Amino acid sequence: MITRSPASLQRVIPTTTEKNDPGWQAQLSGALRDPRVLLARLELDEGLLPGAEAGHELFEVRVPEAYLARIRPGDPNDPLLRQVLPFSAETDSVQGFVSDPLEEAEHTPRPGLIHKYAGRVLLIASPACAINCRYCFRRHFPYGENSLSRAQWNDALDYVRNDTSIREAILSGGDPLASSDKRLAWLVERLDEIPHLKRLRLHTRLPVVIPDRIDDTLLAWMSATRLQTVMVLHINHAHEIDDAVVAACSRLREAGVTLLNQSVLLRGVNDSVETLAALSERLFEAGILPYYLHVLDPVSGAAHFNVPDDEAVILVNALRERLAGFLMPRLVREVPREKSKTPLSSCNS
Ligand SMILES: *Cc1c(COP(=O)(O)O)cnc(C)c1O
Ligand code: SF4
Repeated sequence: MITRSPASLQRVIPTTTEKNDPGWQAQLSGALRDPRVLLARLELDEGLLPGAEAGHELFEVRVPEAYLARIRPGDPNDPLLRQVLPFSAETDSVQGFVSDPLEEAEHTPRPGLIHKYAGRVLLIASPACAINCRYCFRRHFPYGENSLSRAQWNDALDYVRNDTSIREAILSGGDPLASSDKRLAWLVERLDEIPHLKRLRLHTRLPVVIPDRIDDTLLAWMSATRLQTVMVLHINHAHEIDDAVVAACSRLREAGVTLLNQSVLLRGVNDSVETLAALSERLFEAGILPYYLHVLDPVSGAAHFNVPDDEAVILVNALRERLAGFLMPRLVREVPREKSKTPLSSCNS
């Protein structure tokens, strides 16, 4: 899905000297994309294959090696595996689970730009992701229509320039860090020139799934901007944070980046007080503050991950009794047409 010129393709072919340290682009293009290979590599039962292939038809399997290495072989219930391996339940049609649950099309004044909340605009900075998460609310997203040309980027930038109420530009996707540093550096330089902008935020899973993405080239453009930089990572389970992720996070923090995390509450992945408490503790060890815990967006193909609201509220109330206040994520849902993420509380459940 990522377009590359033949010249840059050449660059990603590892040479002997790079063998032990393939660059992030090689890891991105070398991500595992075959459900049969995924099952074989993890010593899983062949009986899972028909379901995996059916799901793969709807939204392709994609797992980078660095993430695969954190999955326990032989365990179909591994919490990381469940995020990447399709199960036959994906083909179930469940009432209320739809292809565009957030109705984002309504808030798209320019291609690739979503302006839904006061003071913040979201820019779709890349059409692709490094990993395909089975519960993703963008699994049916028409990325083809949202991969921007240079002219469209200039249009989106004009929109930001002409609305002085905008304080923060949020790069999202897909995953914005699946884009090249050259493209990102260009974009951030343009944003930097807009006087009313104060902050640059990136919503990304790349530092988690391919920690080598946080290299000197990336740190150079992130440190060069006058904008305050915030990175919202996406981590759902403590096992996702290995030493390489901790090291990537510490480089980001040294570059002055504020690190936050958002998770999605997922059946079979993190739907227990122990798991969520361990996640918050581990995040803080890595220098990341818990920000949001989202209830699942009702996207078709993901209903089997759903945790009902009343159960979510009970879980989070129990979590609050265990954790320091600053380790508590805010339990929220995305409601079409609301002016902010909507908190779930015991009062409105
Ligand atoms: C979530 C989101 C934001 C950011 O919201 P915060 O509450 O500031 O994190 C901005 N724009 C859109 C379209 C969003 O979905
Ligand atoms: S990285 Fe984020 S946008 Fe990409 S598939 Fe996963 S949840 Fe969706």
